[in-house]
Amino acid sequence: MISFYIDPDRCTGCGTCRKQCPADAINGDKNLIHIIDQDKCTRCGTCFEVCPPKFSSVVKLSGDPVPDPVPEEERTIRKKTKEKG
Ligand code: SF4
Ligand code: SF4
Repeated sequence: MISFYIDPDRCTGCGTCRKQCPADAINGDKNLIHIIDQDKCTRCGTCFEVCPPKFSSVVKLSGDPVPDPVPEEERTIRKKTKEKG
């Protein structure tokens, strides 16, 4: 069975997948790593298609177990650009 998973190390929280998910199965907000609710997900693949290629955060799993979602306290996206030395 196919599942979709958002790689927390790659997701930028842009929200594109969440806005386009027809099943309202993606949870997220600005600056938050987005998470797919596997119970709501219909495996339509839209998120996989719409996640911008430069991020490529949505991973398609073919039968592999879906990794646990990121814990709430680790969901804030830290800017990768240097702010201070
Ligand atoms: S596969 Fe479809 S239903 Fe599942 S999270 Fe992605 S867009 Fe939503
Ligand atoms: S479209 Fe991709 S980068 Fe944007 S929130 Fe969804 S998974 Fe993250």
